[in-house]
Amino acid sequence: MIETLEGYRYGAMESLLQEAGVNPVHTRPLFSAVQRRLVNACLGEAEGILPPVARWLSSESAPPLCSIEQVDCTPSGDGFTEKYLLRLGDGTEVESVRMGFPGRFTACLSSQVGCAMGCVFCATGQMGFSRHLSAGEIVAQAHHVERSLRASQGERLRNIVMMGMGEPLHNFEPVMEALDILTDNRGLNIGPARVAISTVGHIPGILQLARHPKRYSLAVSLHGASDEERGALIPVNKKWPLADLIEACREYTAIKRARVFFAWTLIGGVNDSADHAHRLAVLLHGMDAHVNLIPLNATEGYEGQAPEEGNIREFQRIIQDSGLPSTVRQRRGIDVAAGCGQLKAKRRSPAPRL
Ligand code: SAH
Ligand code: SF4
Repeated sequence: MIETLEGYRYGAMESLLQEAGVNPVHTRPLFSAVQRRLVNACLGEAEGILPPVARWLSSESAPPLCSIEQVDCTPSGDGFTEKYLLRLGDGTEVESVRMGFPGRFTACLSSQVGCAMGCVFCATGQMGFSRHLSAGEIVAQAHHVERSLRASQGERLRNIVMMGMGEPLHNFEPVMEALDILTDNRGLNIGPARVAISTVGHIPGILQLARHPKRYSLAVSLHGASDEERGALIPVNKKWPLADLIEACREYTAIKRARVFFAWTLIGGVNDSADHAHRLAVLLHGMDAHVNLIPLNATEGYEGQAPEEGNIREFQRIIQDSGLPSTVRQRRGIDVAAGCGQLKAKRRSPAPRL
């Protein structure tokens, strides 16, 4: 896959110019035009781009800008959440979401087209895997969200969560490159602590992340506190079983001196009982952990349903009493099908006959 200009870290852009025989002093204005001012057309004519760079940009050797076209935008009733279906250069489509409040906007980005992990309740898992996204395609999603914020709210992006389509640690290098670029203070300058990477429990990736120089926030999707129960929802639990996963998380907290966030998608009658809550509390005992409880967004390919309100409250009370901090994730934007992969899945399903 050809890398696009958005996917070059500052240092890589410097080398690119040098190799093309262009003086690397031009890196800063070029990086700023692409990553800060978000110029996405007629880059050669942008402010601060001098003739040697403009000439190179119009030559065949210069990487193109990422082609990303919005094919659907679904605003939510709250006025702040918007979900975008974006078409990439090869015609494949991914979703990104803008959510939050003034002063606290977050972009939820995709890391892959589809996903190879096959979690049974997840619309993206139900689609299967098509391909990895390049660093530039991940950065370009954040740019799309930032442009919408600048235009409609006069605001800027503060947080990034890798919780869209795909398993970010299965596409490790491009995801890390993209996050390095988005946290660069010569670009959008998102604080690394304001970036969260959510994983299905990809152990090699967690261990690599623990040794990565930047301290991004780690979120691990659990949904079950025994191998049997978790394995029924997340097939890759066979490859990366629970005991090994928890050990990797403990290693992460020890190396990074940071807490791990655990996601628990609550599914009515499947993993939302008092018993499940007690077992979760035992599993995470003594770890610097925080649990995010997410009521299931029902998907077409899975018969599970959202839990009842009373079960959510009881589940939270039990883990809270055991000393585990938690948050119930509001189903913000459920009216825009904001569950992972659901907008794309909705468009693919045949129109109902009237
Ligand atoms: N692949 C990564 C990140 C993308 S999914 C991961 O699995 O963590 C982001 C979160 O959404 C995960 O916690 C996932 O379990 C959850 N999720 C996926 N489909 C869902 C659904 N239909 N309802 C509620 N949560 C869902
Ligand atoms: Fe992939 Fe995450 Fe969906 Fe599982 S929940 S299929 S890992 S995107």
